[in-house]
Amino acid sequence: MARYRGSVCKFCRRERLKLFLKGDRCYSEKCSVDRRPYPPGVHGQRRPKFSPYGEQLREKQKVKRIYGFLEKQFRLTFQRASRMKGVKGENLLLLLERRLDNMVYRMGFARTRREARQLVRHGHFRVNGKKITLPSYLLKVGDEVNVRDRSKKIALFKDALEGVERRGVPGWIELDSKEMKAVVSGLPSREDITMPIQEQMIVEIYSR
Ligand code: SF4
Repeated sequence: MARYRGSVCKFCRRERLKLFLKGDRCYSEKCSVDRRPYPPGVHGQRRPKFSPYGEQLREKQKVKRIYGFLEKQFRLTFQRASRMKGVKGENLLLLLERRLDNMVYRMGFARTRREARQLVRHGHFRVNGKKITLPSYLLKVGDEVNVRDRSKKIALFKDALEGVERRGVPGWIELDSKEMKAVVSGLPSREDITMPIQEQMIVEIYSR
């Protein structure tokens, strides 16, 4: 699958918002949004003027970047959300949250979603005892994720679990950090997703 390899801090600067794409650095004084709180590029310091379309586009780009998606995959996820019962925008956020790579990040086994995706691909996790290497695998209530035994001694997991204390484990996850395992005890509701996201704008841009 295609992958973005450039700087991610400029995404945050573009959105004028911390998207927390770099783990510990995001909480330090090195954060680029704190140091240069304006969009990248020569015109970055101009006052931005957005049309309604521009605002919808920014909202879509923001969510894609938070969850680490490129356009094609994001659109496919939206189409899937549209076929589900209920509110399209909320369905989209729920699908994004239920992905294995996102859950691994939320559980504290990775410092960023991007790192979580790579760790999943490299086979470090078991879901209900079975090796799963598909980052888009959707978890359901009751699923248990654990770091495979021979990966537990990797320092990265210890570092990541220390870092999760700062950002907190969501209420829908029961984490056993000593055993490096976690259970999905529920699914997030819209109120549980605390990043400032206006998902209705994404629905509008894809409905044009
Ligand atoms: Fe964004 Fe983190 Fe970079 Fe700050 S350090 S700009 S929050 S990715």
